[in-house]
Parts: sequence; C-alpha cells; structure tokens
Amino acid sequence: LISRKWRVNPTLIDLGDGVVIGEGNFSIMAGPCSIESERQIELVVEHLKANNVKIMRGGVFKPRSSPYAFRGMGLEGLHMFHQLCSANGIKIITEVMQVSQIEDMVDYVDVFQVGARNSQNFNLLDSLGEAQKPVLLKRGISGTLEELLQAAEYIFSNGNEKIMLCERGIRSYENAYRNVLDLNAVPVLKAKTHLPVIVDPSHGIGLRDYVEPMSLAAVMAGADGVIYETHQKPEEAFSDGQQTVNFQESERLIRRMRQAFELR
Ligand code: PEP
Ligand code: MN
Repeated sequence: LISRKWRVNPTLIDLGDGVVIGEGNFSIMAGPCSIESERQIELVVEHLKANNVKIMRGGVFKPRSSPYAFRGMGLEGLHMFHQLCSANGIKIITEVMQVSQIEDMVDYVDVFQVGARNSQNFNLLDSLGEAQKPVLLKRGISGTLEELLQAAEYIFSNGNEKIMLCERGIRSYENAYRNVLDLNAVPVLKAKTHLPVIVDPSHGIGLRDYVEPMSLAAVMAGADGVIYETHQKPEEAFSDGQQTVNFQESERLIRRMRQAFELR
C-alpha cells in the first residue's frame, strides 16, 4: 500500500492551518531533544516564530540508553508543550514509546514520532494505524530500508495513511561520529514509496558542527523536510547537547536550507 506502484501520486500530510508536509514543500521541524521547562519551550517557540518555522519537536518520553539518564517530563510536560504551541500556531511532534501512551497523548500532539528503537514495535505500529494522527516513523538503528517500509505498511494497513519516513542514521563500524547518515536512502525511498521522506541530521551525525552541511546535503538529495535539535544553550541541554545547535546556528541553517530548496 505504501508502494509507488500502488499509488503514483505523492502523499501530502495536512496538519491544518496551512501546514502541509510532502512533495513540493520543504518542512522544517526543530526543537530540543527533550522538553525541559516552560521557559525553554517559550524560548524555542519564539525562535521558531521569528524564523517562520511551524513545527516544533521535543520529547517528553525519552528512550535513554541508561535508565539513570533524564527520561523526560511525561504527560505534564506534554500538556505544557501543547498549551504554549497551540497558543502560538506551532504544531507539535513528539515521541510515543508505548501503546498505552497513545490515548493520553493523542489530543495533545500533531504528529506522533516513532523512535528508532521502536521502529519494529509492531504492536505500537498497529495501534498508531488506528489513531487518527500523522506518524513520523524513524528507521531502526540497524534497520534496512525494506524493514522501514514494512513497518510503515503496518501503520498504513491499519487505516492510517498519514505517515512520513525518517532517515536518522544507521550504526556502522565508524566511530568518528554517532551514526552514519544514509542519504542514499532519500532518493531510493522516494522512488519506492509515495510517502514523504524526512531527514534527521542531528541523530544522523551526532555532532553539532556538521548538522548544517548534512542538512544541506539532505535538501539536495530530495528530502521533503528535516527534523533537527536546537536549544537556547545546547551545552546545558538535558539530552543530546553535543548534536544540538544554538539559535544563531539554527537561524543560519534555516536560511541556507530554504536557499538550497529554491535551487533544487
Ligand atoms: C530523538 O528524536 O530525540 C530520538 C531519540 O531519536 P531516535 O529515535 O532517532 O534515536
Ligand atoms: Mn535526541
């Protein structure tokens, strides 16, 4: 069902208020790795508004390698996130980690993110297929494109057609950076499916200085958008600070990506 052979026309995902993701648009989703406080959300919202960015990312349920690391503000954080964003015309994308969270989250999110670690959590995918909210599905940590497409098929076959695929880097033997951002995936996925393809350069390379070149490369590879991490003080972020750009860097990145998209 997600194949280009089955549907030739690209799928567009309409989040309302003129925010449409997919072919012909270049969608920018930016924000902190984790939602940390009311003040933090306000500062990010202000930054996004100043740059005409309509979608804010931020995790309230965080999949952390160590159980002792900050695991997110939970529903309380999501309610605050929702209140501040909806008041400012900003859409929300945030990660859902398990089936039982969907019901509590659904009224407060615009896009559910499925993280790399849950990319093949088939119960979660089935349930999101029944939810009436768009889903950004990330590629697994060592996931093949075929596995990503099959995972999307789980959601689609349950009745939810509003899916975007996300390349976020795959694990390799190279340890000079966090992951290997596989930009080959962009044109290949675009040819295989009608779904929008989004790139996450932050998790893809894991080093803030290189988020910009990889984002620009993603634009030229044909991505329908990017999702990246930004924070008012990256060095103080509760998670993923090393790959998070500050607002000044983010502003330049937004400007350059838009210029690159114009050239495409
Ligand atoms: C995130 O977006 O902060 C995240 C945890 O991403 P991933 O699932 O790609 O590691
Ligand atoms: Mn992160």
